[in-house]
Formats: sequence, structure tokens, C-alpha cells
Amino acid sequence: MNKKLTLKTSVFLWTDDNHGFLYDSSSHEFYKFLLSKSIAELCHNLLVPENLYSVFAGEYTGDIEVGKFIEEVLRRGFGILQDEDDFQYMVSFPPMLNLLHSWERIKKKKESLNTTVLHYFTSLTVYTGGVCPDNGYCEQTIYPVCSVCILSAENIIGFLSRVDSPYLSEINIVFSSIGDYPDIHRLFDWLGTRRKKITIYVRAEDAGNSDVVEEVIKNGFNAVLLHAGLVLTDSRIMKLSLRHVFLVTSDDNCKNAEDICKQDGITDFVCVPVFNGNNYEFFNDCVFLNEEEILRTRLSRHEIFTHQVININYFGRLFLFPDGNVFAGPGKCPVGNIHDTVYSLIISEMDKNTAWRKTRDMLARCKTCIYRYLCPSPSSYEEVMGIDCICTDKIKRKEVAMVPPESILSGIAIMHCRQ
Ligand code: SF4
Repeated sequence: MNKKLTLKTSVFLWTDDNHGFLYDSSSHEFYKFLLSKSIAELCHNLLVPENLYSVFAGEYTGDIEVGKFIEEVLRRGFGILQDEDDFQYMVSFPPMLNLLHSWERIKKKKESLNTTVLHYFTSLTVYTGGVCPDNGYCEQTIYPVCSVCILSAENIIGFLSRVDSPYLSEINIVFSSIGDYPDIHRLFDWLGTRRKKITIYVRAEDAGNSDVVEEVIKNGFNAVLLHAGLVLTDSRIMKLSLRHVFLVTSDDNCKNAEDICKQDGITDFVCVPVFNGNNYEFFNDCVFLNEEEILRTRLSRHEIFTHQVININYFGRLFLFPDGNVFAGPGKCPVGNIHDTVYSLIISEMDKNTAWRKTRDMLARCKTCIYRYLCPSPSSYEEVMGIDCICTDKIKRKEVAMVPPESILSGIAIMHCRQ
């Protein structure tokens, strides 16, 4: 009897020109294999939707490579061999995204458009502007913007009043120089009505000269102290109840930060890698991933679908800059400005896709790679460093050229030091 090979619905099958890759999102088992002509044909047939993730195994009788491949698929539990008249015949489907929710369809439903898109916007970061080091870190993670223009308390309050919604769960205010910020009490009074979702970011050097950080905490805001370059900070500040973010450029930097925290009894801290123009090696060794590390990412079915459609670093986030422009991430063009409505900002980003839906499918190097849905979404590091992927096996360091950091940036990537 001609049995059918049927893959389970939890199993993803991806191919490139030379390899195939099976990944079971339930067991996290994977299998990378070479594509012979007949295995490639079998994989192609499995992926034809009408075939319900099945092929007749008998069609490949006598093909030793296919025989071994099927044996391996069964041994690893990716699928079963079954007769069509089996009592418990398993019907399966290749895991596919529900395209009913695609942006093009949502946009057509004009009457519900505004309500739908408001859900998308969950995080706002406001950069006050002012004097601070101009090191380009603001293009890689949350770090103050050095600028002549400063957003007044009145402008920030006006914007926040218009864009706030029940879905906006995080508002970050990043001060370039908190001690010099005019009208801070007026701003704090207003933010106090929403204190649970407010996080105030202050540079460690700046905090050392100011009592404002204590006031931030007294007001019940979340506070983050940003340490760039491990500047020693007033011990009074280090003892306050806040989160410490260390922007690190090397593994040693990260270890030092850990030592400082251990010494001061600080438990709420993270190290965030930053690119300083020279530390490619640090990124290759400690931040970027090799094939083995990519294969260790145990993604669920839902997470894989997410990687297929959105950029998890940026989706839902907007950034208000000191000049009044609003960005959605590391795109080169703003999606609007401080005078726009929240709806027009979100719709503008959904139309232009400067960041929120930038997936690895859109990168020349990644779009045909079998790991593109397992890899993290494209990050600001790749833009700032001028590289086109984050897998260390594929980066030829000599070919990497630094690009001017023109793009606007993204979220926080958290790293852990290698022991
Ligand atoms: S970064 Fe791109 S090329 Fe490298 S493994 Fe991931 S998807 Fe493939």
C-alpha cells in the first residue's frame, strides 16, 4: 500500500538552494539536511497547500537519499507514515500565517481603522534634548540626544495629552541634562497623574550633581540611571532605588559593571552593548550569534509567526525627538511630528514601514536564509555598524564598513557577560 508521509502542524519546513530545515515548535527539535534533487522535490510537494502537508512516500521508492530522509523525519518525530484509509488518519496543514489580518485588509475597513491601530501603539520615548555627550549611542539604545533645541514642558504635555491611550503602557522621558531642564516641576506634576507608566532616564554623570533624581523617585516614577563609560557615581545615588543601565563596549566593561553592582549591593541592573566604531570583535564574540546559538533559540509557533510579520524591537514604539519630529525606529524619515494626531502617526508608519514591520525577509542577505524566522528581528546595531546580518559565521569582518550613524534608533538589547 502506498503510504503518505504527513508532517505535524507544529513543524515548520524551510529551504534554501542547498539545504532544508525542519523545526518543531512544540518539541524544539530541528533537523538541517542537504537538498538532493528528489528531496527538494519532496519538500516542494509537502509545501503545496492542497497536499495538506503530505506526500506519497511510494513515489520515491528506490531513492536511497529520500529513504534515509524519511527515516530521519520519522525518528525525530516530525511526522508520521499513514494510509489514507487509516481509522485515525491525521489531517495536517503547513503552519501558515492568517493573512486576514494584513495591513492592506485592515486599512480597507475605514470605520474601524482608528480603533484597530490605536492598539498597536504601546510605547513612547520622549527625548528632551539639551547638552550631553554626542557619542551616537542614542541611535543604538535609549540614551539622551545631544541637541541645541529642547522640548519644553508645555510641548511635551501637549503631545502626551493627545497621544495617550489605555494601550500606551510605557512612556519614557530621556533627559539630556536634567539639572538644566526648565520648568521640570510643571512637567513632573503632569506626569504624576500617570506615574505608573512613566520611566525617567538620567545620565549617571548628570545625576551626581543634582537632587532631581531623588525627587524623581519621591514622585513615584520609575527611574533609570544610564552609565556610559563607567563613570564613578556619587554613592548616595548608587544606593537609591532605581535601575542601572550600563552601556558597555567590551566584555571587560561588562564585568566591571557587574563588580561595581556586587560591591554596592545593586541587583537591578543590565548591561547594554553599544558600538563605538571599533569594537566589532566584542559584538562578534558577545552579542551576535553563531549557528549553534541560533539553533538554541526555542521559539514557539506564535513567536515564529511574529518574526514573519513584525520587527519585535520596534513594533508599537514611537520616539519624539527634541526638534519635534516623531520616528518609529531606525528609519531615515520621520513618520510625522509633534502636531500630528496619534492615528496619523501610526497609519503613517504602517504605510511607510520605516521600522515596525522590517523583518529579515526584507534584507538581501537574510531573505533566502533558512534561519530567517529564528533569528532576532533586524536591529539598530546592524544599521549603525553597516552590516547586513548578525550571524557571526557569515560576517566577513574585513568586508564590514562602518557607516555614518544616520538612522534613528531602537530599543534596548540586553547582554550578559561571558564568564
Ligand atoms: S542573520 Fe540573516 S543570514 Fe544570518 S542566520 Fe540570521 S537570517 Fe540567516
